[in-house]
Amino acid sequence: MAFEYAPAPESASIVDIRASYGLFINGEFVDSADGSPFKTVNPASEQVLAEIAEAGPTDVDRAVAAARAAYQKTWGPMPGAERAKYLYRIARIIQERSRELAVLESIDNGKPIRESRDVDLPLVAAHFFYYAGWADKLEYAGLGPQPRPLGVAAQVIPWNFPLLMLAWKIAPALACGNTVVLKPAETTPLSALAFAEICQQADLPPGVVNIVTGAGATGQALVEHQDVDKVAFTGSTDVGRAIARSVAGSRKKVTLELGGKAANVVFDDAALDQAVEGIVNGIFFNQGHVCCAGSRLLVQESGYDELLAKLKRRMSLLRVGDPLDKNTDIGAINSSAQLERIRTLSQIGESEGAARWTAPCPLPERGYWFAPTLFTGVSQAHRIAREEIFGPVLSVLTFRTPAEAVEKANNTPYGLSAGVWTEKGSRILWMADRLRAGVIWANTFNKFDPTSPFGGYKESGYGREGGRHGLEAYLA
Ligand code: NAD
Repeated sequence: MAFEYAPAPESASIVDIRASYGLFINGEFVDSADGSPFKTVNPASEQVLAEIAEAGPTDVDRAVAAARAAYQKTWGPMPGAERAKYLYRIARIIQERSRELAVLESIDNGKPIRESRDVDLPLVAAHFFYYAGWADKLEYAGLGPQPRPLGVAAQVIPWNFPLLMLAWKIAPALACGNTVVLKPAETTPLSALAFAEICQQADLPPGVVNIVTGAGATGQALVEHQDVDKVAFTGSTDVGRAIARSVAGSRKKVTLELGGKAANVVFDDAALDQAVEGIVNGIFFNQGHVCCAGSRLLVQESGYDELLAKLKRRMSLLRVGDPLDKNTDIGAINSSAQLERIRTLSQIGESEGAARWTAPCPLPERGYWFAPTLFTGVSQAHRIAREEIFGPVLSVLTFRTPAEAVEKANNTPYGLSAGVWTEKGSRILWMADRLRAGVIWANTFNKFDPTSPFGGYKESGYGREGGRHGLEAYLA
């Protein structure tokens, strides 16, 4: 039985969204010299939230010049212990403003407030605290006696975790003594612009952090700029490939965090109720807009019927709707383009012969929504088993033996994450040894921690973010 809940909306009055935003260059908000403004919308209501400046090549050039000057004059020469003070200050301001930032993130991205408040924002602050701690200890990181910063970092991030991806990029870069020019995704620029205000509030020296807004062309101008020393990109594999080609042969160091198609493997001895929670968290967290989402469920045949019945029952209880309502489990799809992609791939799943089941839940009339969906009878050749859908859609496959599970799990061009559910510790280790994925969760899923490295194999990219390993990407 589903309980009735009264609506419990978080108030949006705590955020103050301006009608228009400029670019953040050299410590201040400035007009764009050569871009045309674009709009960011609330995906839950389709209402325009603000007009955002687009950075053209001249603006990107100004931002890189500001970052270069700050690297040479203030940030580069500053002792690590001093840099740490700024990072701690930023971390504390993020904590102080976390409610406001969580609401802003939910409005611009569509993710439920429960997640932006309890997952994104605590992790954002934790990232800055963690890397602040490293800033004066870099010579003990195991990367040589006198590790040096690289210089100016060009950073491009996606829309699924706007502020968290910013933290993953900016915190280690600054801790290591680099300066940055960051481009947020075009559909979710607002929390990065709020972060620019936080840099001002923290009295960060001008030019250490620069935020240039815009779409792919702005990102391309940034990563191809001659005066950047490091490129850090998180986004789709196609764009990652283009970036790898464009920087090949240059002196730029590169890290790429790309897509995924993770297997979540459930053995018949697993605690099934817990596994069901993990499966739901694995694919429906953040509307499934998660690079490491457990989008391929591999179930041992002998436990299949019981698990599927429990999973469908649980999915029927998920609440889809207003991202600001504290009862909401699944918020809005971030953009109409992404909704279209999810619909198209789901239709292809049906036409290729998989059986579609959708949770019976009402969807709001306005905005971009997609009900939690699963496909059974999926074969490895189906596109829904091979391509990243990046939405609340789960493809279910079966296996009989552990060896078959490994073979199926690894049968993908990606290698970002995987999950294993079993009561046997030895089997977890046996599987973890054989699964070709950067992160493997055992009897849990989608757990993140700033001390733990994250990154992929194969077409999921290269380099690691987080933990001591994350320093390596920003030091020579
Ligand atoms: P995307 O590749 O379309 O865009 C990512 C960013 O790159 C955006 O800011 C975009 O404006 C910019 N961009 C687009 N074209 C560019 C170009 N030619 N040069 C430089 N920048 C360019 O990806 P998306 O749709 O925003 O994000 C979803 C993808 O991100 C998924 O594939 C997901 O798996 C991946 N992702 C990966 C991780 C990870 O850590 N591995 C984390 C989050 C998301």
